[in-house]
Amino acid sequence: MQFQPIFDKKRPVLIAGPCSAETEEQVLATAHGLVRLAEKPTIDLFRAGIWKPRTRPGAFEGIGTPGLKWLRRVKEETGLRVTTEVANAQHVYECLKYGVDVLWIGARTTVNPFSVQEIADALEGTDVPVLVKNPVNPDYKLWVGAIERLHKAGLRRIAAVHRGFSTYGDSKYRNVPRWQMPIDLMQEFPDLEVICDISHICGRRDILAETAQKAYDLNYDGLMVEVHPTPDVAWSDAAQQITPAQFVEMIGSVIRRAVTTDDPDFQEQIEQFRHQIDELDEEIIHLIAQRMHLVREIGYVKKDKNVAILQPERWRALVEACHHRAEKNELSREFTNLFLEAIHQEGIEQQERIMNDGVAAAEVPSRGLWLDD
Ligand code: PEP
Ligand code: MN
Repeated sequence: MQFQPIFDKKRPVLIAGPCSAETEEQVLATAHGLVRLAEKPTIDLFRAGIWKPRTRPGAFEGIGTPGLKWLRRVKEETGLRVTTEVANAQHVYECLKYGVDVLWIGARTTVNPFSVQEIADALEGTDVPVLVKNPVNPDYKLWVGAIERLHKAGLRRIAAVHRGFSTYGDSKYRNVPRWQMPIDLMQEFPDLEVICDISHICGRRDILAETAQKAYDLNYDGLMVEVHPTPDVAWSDAAQQITPAQFVEMIGSVIRRAVTTDDPDFQEQIEQFRHQIDELDEEIIHLIAQRMHLVREIGYVKKDKNVAILQPERWRALVEACHHRAEKNELSREFTNLFLEAIHQEGIEQQERIMNDGVAAAEVPSRGLWLDD
């Protein structure tokens, strides 16, 4: 798939505005606040949700079509391009009627191929730019699939928005970022613009700046940030919104670094480190392979004695010991959990193959392979 840019060459692209359009005054106050304060940096797109997909019923579900007139006023009075979320064909037709410049597909819609297809069909024959948020669940193919449906409808000005993934239990983030997925997307589609929605990743104000810095350091094309004149009394997502002044201050505090440099010193230093990293990666793979070899040996013993694969007590003790070691070595708990989960999952699958496939030890093809170089 090939894409055309939605935004001009200036980087970072900045998209800002309230979570929801609440009143005409609130929408206009936000837009004027951003324009007035934001000579540098000026924003590239003004956002406001008109139809709001809320997790629980009874919450504010959006102002609906009357809000589109407010967005039109924002355009007329500030010259900013505007964007809102669409979840079905009717939303698309309303937006086209009122001249909304860019549409976005929300995380709860990207998960549903029927809805995405309906939106793509409604847009066929236009060249309206569309931002596609990641689905709420970390499903890379579903995200790419939504982009593909729009592309098949003839749209080319498409960008992706990374807003993190739902989680259950304790996390620093409202939606865990899983940075590798947008990185994979950038690698697979180098001409696709990718924006980081730090507000929905963080869910809280105090970690917005560090998350924006992270996004800059990963070379995102830009940021989407929820901005509200009086965030504490916002009708949706109050805890994560910031004022126009706080937005400008935050953007001023994050550092946009060069993608790369030709400086020979830099190249030499980085080469040396990369060489060491390559060696370590090779060692890591060998070590994991050795570990899996032992896991398979245990699989044969369990099969022999008819003992279940999952041993919760043992696993709990192992995780605890690793947390302890990881902490001493400056590895985050989040990373350690992800790493151990992946190891555990692979171990279980390898033992399952041994238990259930009736394959004799000598016939397991990968057995002993780690010894080869
Ligand atoms: C939003 O941008 O306000 C929104 C509802 O986002 P998401 O689809 O990412 O939850
Ligand atoms: Mn929101």
